[in-house]
Order: sequence, then structure tokens, then C-alpha cells
Amino acid sequence: MKADFKLLIGGVLVEGASTFDVINPATEQVVAKCPKADPAQLEDAIGAAKAAFPSWSALGYDARGALIEKMADAIVANKDELARLLTAEQGKPLDQAAYEVMGASFVLRAFAGMRAPEKVVREDAGNRVIEHRTPLGVVASITPWNFPLILLANKLGPCLVSGNCMVAKPAPTTPLTTLLLAELTREILPAGVFNVVCDENELGPLLSAHPDVAKVAFTGSTATGKKVMASAATGVKRVTLELGGNDAAIVLDDMVPAVAAQKVYQGAMTNAGQICVAIKRAYVHESIYDEFCEEIARLAEAAVVDDGTKQGTTIGPVQNRMQYDKVKSLIESARDGGTFLAGGELPDGPGFFIPPTIVAGLDDDAPLVREEQFGPVLPVLKFSEVDDVVRRANASEYGLAGTVWGRDLERAMDVARRIDSGTVWVNQHLAIDPTLPFRGSKQSGLGAELGQAGLHEYTQAHIINAVELEEL
Ligand code: NAD
Repeated sequence: MKADFKLLIGGVLVEGASTFDVINPATEQVVAKCPKADPAQLEDAIGAAKAAFPSWSALGYDARGALIEKMADAIVANKDELARLLTAEQGKPLDQAAYEVMGASFVLRAFAGMRAPEKVVREDAGNRVIEHRTPLGVVASITPWNFPLILLANKLGPCLVSGNCMVAKPAPTTPLTTLLLAELTREILPAGVFNVVCDENELGPLLSAHPDVAKVAFTGSTATGKKVMASAATGVKRVTLELGGNDAAIVLDDMVPAVAAQKVYQGAMTNAGQICVAIKRAYVHESIYDEFCEEIARLAEAAVVDDGTKQGTTIGPVQNRMQYDKVKSLIESARDGGTFLAGGELPDGPGFFIPPTIVAGLDDDAPLVREEQFGPVLPVLKFSEVDDVVRRANASEYGLAGTVWGRDLERAMDVARRIDSGTVWVNQHLAIDPTLPFRGSKQSGLGAELGQAGLHEYTQAHIINAVELEEL
């Protein structure tokens, strides 16, 4: 596996000012040394993006879209290497890593074909009003460690196609796939259009407060999102915040319990539960609760929890020590009042492995129900009245997504309309599509990512309001 990684600044691969170790969460061994940028290198990267902006923005959508297509081709051509590296640094099973790699290329292709054309707002006798959109300038991308490639692609596609330049800063525990992507696509883009710097959590505040950064596209925790918003306030910068969630699944009484259990299990445990929109609380109608619990516990017990490089592994480790400790302490807290239907016992190391854990019998104010666990642990709760379960699902500072499961589609959709989340899926989960806007309500985010609305967030709208003067 590749061992030497470089920063990308102004089209040149450069050593970092220092290095730090990237740890494989399955083995706790070093995957590679990551170059670490100092503040002067961050300045260089922002300067390079600023210098590249005039000619890149002048190039036009079609020419930029064609280069983004080539980036997608380069990802596909190197998919195996990217997937192996992703599993090594992130921990997810190899097939899921390959899916993420292909997903990143798919998102880039979708944006390569998207446009933000001029719109006629009003046209009547003598008065013409148009809205046209221009790129913003330098965009900072700050990403977390659960989906390093897809979450970067969600920003890179709309940023570049609309004529902006980017300085990307991956999470300190999963920087390598971003660096490899930058290296693989370096010769496709003009120098400075896409830059990558790495840190150990020091550069985010500098990036988001920098006067030459016009927008911060951030995905991460709500706590950090608030800091990004505060530092962006100094320059009234544009921000897109995709933050935490505590998504509820509501399983209605007409659902077949075994089918619901299978769907909810997948929705809660894929990527070891480390998905912003993972199902983090399941509310199941009392009439099917026992059967549901029995089946979901069976699925959890059947999981193969192991190193993601081993064939047959269904759940890899949690990505880093800090997250492992957090999930472990939520499991401990659930011993107070919870009944463990599956899992709960953590194997000895090495590796941050947590078997899928299903806990019944907790109150809604238990930490595992109230907080975002971001790991393979699911509380299963009982309800009897729809009004009551809607109230309980909405009783959260988060509002990212949610799911409703029921055979009567109209009824399930009525319940979905009452959930205060940016997205609610009915009888499906994780149907994220680059052409559909994705956004959080409440403290789960600000602004849209993906879709036409997401593309617009990388542009400034200008209204031009003209009349014909009769005197002329
Ligand atoms: P995090 O907030 O700790 O870190 C995210 C990024 O912010 C990292 O790159 C980090 O280096 C950087 N950062 C740290 N301090 C900063 C600061 N003061 N200013 C600017 N940047 C700073 O999040 P995490 O632990 O890496 O990721 C997990 C969280 O991300 C979960 O809450 C999850 O729900 C959320 N998430 C949300 C979405 C979404 O689309 N809504 C998607 C994936 C993950």
C-alpha cells in the first residue's frame, strides 16, 4: 500500500512542515505518516486558490464540467487502491469502501452536468428583471472521518463546476484518501483550483476565519459547526453546515416485524453506525414490538465484526479511539435501566471493535436515547399512539433525517410530514441522491448540500432590474 503522501498546494505535491501518524482502527498499527501543514502552508494554499480563481471562473460551466468528469474517471480507474486505503484508515469493510469510492465518482459526474443558469424573474412591458449567479471565490471544505471521500465529493463537485476554487481539509484521522484523490487528479485541473492541507485539528479555525475564504462548507459535529459559524461571522462568510443527528425510525403497526427489523438493523449498523443519518433510535408499535426485538437481536448476533479487509466482515471497527470511548461510555450508561438484547460486551484489543448492540427498555431521557451515539448501538423503544411517537421523535435539538415504516403508504407519509427533520424517508433509508437537496433542520445544519439548492449555495445571486427609458 502507498506509504508516501504529500500535501497539494498550488498544483505541486509538497512535504508537510511536520508529520503525524494515521492509525488503522482495526489493528491500531500506523497506516502511514501524514504530512501536516503549518499556518504558512495554509496561507500558501489559500493564496494559490485565490490566484487560480479568475481564470477558473472565466472558463465556463461546460469546460469545467468536462474536467470534473475526468476527475471522476480518475477515481474509477484507481478504485481498488482508493478502496483499500479507505478501509485501512477508516475501518469500513472493503465492499463498503468500494461503494463509497464509486459514490464519490457518481457525485462528481452528477455535478459536472449541473448548471446555475440565468433566470428571468419578471418580464413585462418595459421592465426586465433577471437573476444571475456568480461564483464566490475560495471555498474551504472541512470534512469528518466517517465518509471522507463522499463528503468531499459533495462539496468539490458543486464548488468547482460553479467556478470556485477549493482548499480542502480532511479529518486528522482519515486524511490519506483525500491526499490520494488530490494526487490522482492533480494534472487534470489547473494549478491552485484544488488544494489539500492536513492538520491535527489546528487549521480549521484559521481556515474558517480567513479573510480570503468566501465560504466554508463544513460537515461534522454540531459542537464544531457552532465554532465554524462563529468564526465565519467575522467576514459574514457563506456557510453550509451539515451537522449531527439523532434520527428516529418509527415502525407503524401494519409493518411486518421481520421486514422492519431487517431494514432498521441495516439503517442503524451500516458503517458501524457512523453515518450522520443512521437510525439512532427505533420506536416500534407495541403490537409488533416483541417480534421486532427478537428479529433485530438475531440479526445483530449474526454480524461478523472484524477487520474490514477480511472477506465476510459485515461490521468494521469504530474509526478512532475517542469515538470508541464515547460509544463505550454510552453502552455503560445504558446498563442503568436497559435490557441488552444483543451485544454490549466489548472484545479485548487491538482494534476499536464494538459488536452491534441492541438495548430495550430505556426511558427517552437516557443518554443513549437523547444523545448522538454515532456507533453500532441502537435503543429500541415502544409506542402505542402515533401522536405520542411523533412528539417523542421531535423532542430533540437535532433534526437531520428520519424514517417511517408502514404498509399503508398514505398513513406513513402523513406521519413523515409531521417529523421536523430535513429529510424523512418512507419505507427506505439512506436514499441520498446528488440531484436532491439534503439539509438539516434545528441544530442539524444550515443550508443545503446536493441538488440544485446545494449548487446555488456556491454562488452569489444578483438581481438586475432594468427598465426602458422612453426619453432615450
Ligand atoms: P468534528 O466536528 O469533530 O470534526 C469535523 C472536522 O472539523 C474535522 O476536519 C476537524 O478537524 C474540523 N475541526 C475541528 N475543530 C474545528 C474548528 N474549531 N473549526 C473548524 N474546523 C474544526 O466531527 P467528527 O467527529 O469528525 O464527525 C462526526 C460528526 O459529524 C457527527 O456528529 C456526525 O453526525 C457528523 N456528520 C454529519 C453529516 C451531515 O451531513 N449532516 C455527515 C457526516 C457526519
